[in-house]
Amino acid sequence: MTSLDATHDPAARSWVESANEAGCDFPIQNLPFGAFSGEGGQGRIGVAIGNCVLDVPAAIETESITFGPEVACALSAETLNDFMSLGPAAWKRVRAALFAMLHEDAPRQDRLLRPMAETSMRLPAAIGDYTDFYAARHHATNVGRMFRPDGEPLMPNWLHLPVGYHGRASSIVVSGTDIVRPYGQLRPDEGPPVFGPCQLLDYELEFGAFVGIGNGMGTRVGIGEASEHLFGVVILNDWSARDVQKWEYQPLGPFNAKNFASTISPWVVTMEALTPFRAHGPERAAGDPPLLDYLTPAPGSRDSLDVQAEVTVSSKAMRRAGTPPMQLSRGTLADLSWSFAQMLAHHTSTGCPMHAGDLLGSGTVSGPEKSSRGCLLELTWRGTEPIELPDGTQRRFLQDGDELTINAWCESDRAARIGFGSCSGVILPPQDS
Ligand code: MN
Repeated sequence: MTSLDATHDPAARSWVESANEAGCDFPIQNLPFGAFSGEGGQGRIGVAIGNCVLDVPAAIETESITFGPEVACALSAETLNDFMSLGPAAWKRVRAALFAMLHEDAPRQDRLLRPMAETSMRLPAAIGDYTDFYAARHHATNVGRMFRPDGEPLMPNWLHLPVGYHGRASSIVVSGTDIVRPYGQLRPDEGPPVFGPCQLLDYELEFGAFVGIGNGMGTRVGIGEASEHLFGVVILNDWSARDVQKWEYQPLGPFNAKNFASTISPWVVTMEALTPFRAHGPERAAGDPPLLDYLTPAPGSRDSLDVQAEVTVSSKAMRRAGTPPMQLSRGTLADLSWSFAQMLAHHTSTGCPMHAGDLLGSGTVSGPEKSSRGCLLELTWRGTEPIELPDGTQRRFLQDGDELTINAWCESDRAARIGFGSCSGVILPPQDS
């Protein structure tokens, strides 16, 4: 079980001055991992500190930090997969060493830093498999109401298992990648289906958890150990073509509506950094059926994460006029009814093998209030309640040129604030091909 140590000390400061500024996403207590493009275009592992990126292989090469051969080799790879596979003891050791090296009492090593603003980030891991869940009760209920107005909004299985579908790892892109409006088969209210550009393009506020330690085929990850298998968390925007989804999703679930792009933030905030923000839960509502044993968290386990998020939009006209982005909603990961640990335990309950770098999406994070609905489908209630933008236009769904950004952070009285950075993308017009 992870516990707090010196790396979580809220009073700790770094010789990287920008890391000590109030509101900074990347203080010394965070130390998230990512991958950036080196001079030759190859991937290099970095750690975010203040407004800089620490070049980890350079720190190893110059012996500014020393590890055994296995860890040194994993941290000199192009992606985080090998490091993710080493497990919590190695993650903790590396975090402690990075903390000591970046601490204000240690000698400055500015030559190992590069300005974050001038660093090109890439996907942190080679994502072998991606699964998206549906873990927020308010989202599942709202969508059920809209898509199946005549039935029970929540399907009977939803209260018994974390519902999910196998997504498309090949379409996951890193923040800053433009998103081309997809084509798809759409069925208008009247007449036969047509093929054309998606008209109801949406985002989904989600988080993604990276699997660290996998499991062999035919073995299960137990609920009690599932959190220890997870390496860390990123922001995830699961771009969604609602008109495609509405027509295709029955009987086998989402397909093309979800396979053209999903964006993740570049910095993986480790479970270790999130330790002060782990919370009891998730809570079951009164009257919910009891969970089966394989999904029941051990008493006192802290599998919920207290993470806050904000979604903003800015149109092309707003950006041209210098108008700041407009807030669409706020959300909290604590609103999930199923934890990442439960998702992993359920996913592997059949013996499905998971590997380091596999990604589990939470599903849209929506809370009880209108201001905490995590997508436009819910915010505008399928377009019936459009949103006014500061440029005088209205949004039911996303328009070409819109930039959608999700920021996320953790705050508490007892710990230093840590952030996830941002997850952003601009919608480009459909392309003929
Ligand atoms: Mn989703």
